[in-house]
Amino acid sequence: MKNILFVASECTPFVKTGGLADVIGSLPHALANEEKLNVRVILPMYDEIAEEWKEKLSYVTSFSVEVGWRKQDADLFQIEHNGIVYYFISNSFYFTRKGIYGYYDDGERFVFFNQAVIASLKFLDFTPDILHAHDWQAGLSVALAKIYQPVEHMKTVFTIHNMKYQGVMPVEMFDEFFNLNREHLGGMEWNGMINCLKCGIFHADKVTTVSPTYAEELKHPYFSEGLHSVLNDRSSDFLGIINGVDTNEYHPLKDPHIDVNYRHSRAKKKQNKTDLQNQLGLPVSEDIPLYVMITRLVEQKGLHLIQHILEEFLQEDIQFVVLGTGETEFESYFSYIATKYPDKAVTQLTFDEAFSRKLYASADFFVMPSLFEPCGLSQLIALQYKTAPIVRETGGLKDTVEPYNEATGKGNGFSFTNYNAHDLLAVLRYSLFVYHTPEHWKQLSKNINKSKFGWQKSASDYKDLYEKVFEQQGVVQS
Ligand code: ADP
Repeated sequence: MKNILFVASECTPFVKTGGLADVIGSLPHALANEEKLNVRVILPMYDEIAEEWKEKLSYVTSFSVEVGWRKQDADLFQIEHNGIVYYFISNSFYFTRKGIYGYYDDGERFVFFNQAVIASLKFLDFTPDILHAHDWQAGLSVALAKIYQPVEHMKTVFTIHNMKYQGVMPVEMFDEFFNLNREHLGGMEWNGMINCLKCGIFHADKVTTVSPTYAEELKHPYFSEGLHSVLNDRSSDFLGIINGVDTNEYHPLKDPHIDVNYRHSRAKKKQNKTDLQNQLGLPVSEDIPLYVMITRLVEQKGLHLIQHILEEFLQEDIQFVVLGTGETEFESYFSYIATKYPDKAVTQLTFDEAFSRKLYASADFFVMPSLFEPCGLSQLIALQYKTAPIVRETGGLKDTVEPYNEATGKGNGFSFTNYNAHDLLAVLRYSLFVYHTPEHWKQLSKNINKSKFGWQKSASDYKDLYEKVFEQQGVVQS
């Protein structure tokens, strides 16, 4: 059995800001159960992690980590949860803070984490055949694995979950943060900055991203945020594998957060809607279509389109609920909307897992008109809860949502092509028409019930990829 070590910055159920946590929390189980791989995960030990988890951690060891001239202490903990072993690297200076990202010294914090990951390998009762690093926060571990070779024959895979966030810092930090010969700077530097995402792309044996369409899009400068030539140089080692969702965790029949559990029953789903309307002080009617957004409030999520047309759409007999946190521009906008349309719109500016489940379960439509979307987990979760996604055709949204077609009766949601507010408004209006036309709504609901986005196929694709990496290094298969 092969050993894979995932290196990442977030993971459900311990700590989450977005879809990365969902993937790191569910893919190891799929790889272990479906493909018989032995996967473990290593993460930073944030203060944010709930006490109930912290109490269950067992101490492994302590060691010293060099961050340039600094010598920082690292404590290593581990926990086994649902058959997967998770390691946590703790350092109170870097990780005892509110939230998990967004500090002026995030670069240094993740230099420490990556150095500590490499230093920890000799203390683990587990020898990785592959180090599989995710996103910029883990990109340096790929470079350091190549440079230090802490484990003989260990290979590396790097997955880009979002090209927008690259983890850049001034090139002067090379001498400040690394005790490395200058010959190693080239693989870490891009456009005069140290670039952690580039480190992963440049050094990994194989590079993946989280949907086939995003993999195509990344070949173009518009999507690749300045790194297209780095990526194009790796094109023969680069591919897109679509994310899945944890169908056990996101299951309307088993979810303890929702008021009325259901499998396919539209009647029971509507009870969740009326309970929610009651809870939120909205007019209670199971016939008013409910649109929701659950999202980071950032430009990527298509919020400028929403800003242009939402008030016009709110003239219809609908309800619109937003759950999100993020940039002030959007937080203020959605607060203003909720104040102006108290009978139709509700905004909750928090990160709230339990409330998000209630919304997925209660909604008729999930709105996600992203400017770009590497994969998107939210539209898949919406489908799990039998909620119709309304998306823009980009990245993983294009790969997972097929627009409903009245003529053929096919499709599991709604989509539009151009990044244009009135195209969004038109598709929102079309969704209303479908909602109010029983034969179409029934057909769409049937199609949604059949949509499947578990990990099976993708876990098998990752397994094939790992096999290719082993073949490259000539390791004998066990
Ligand atoms: P991204 O990773 O770009 O934020 P995804 O669609 O891939 O987008 O994943 C978002 C994940 O975060 C989903 O599980 C979604 O339900 C969750 N999420 C986003 N915002 C919130 C929030 N305010 N409260 C609870 N969950 C949220």
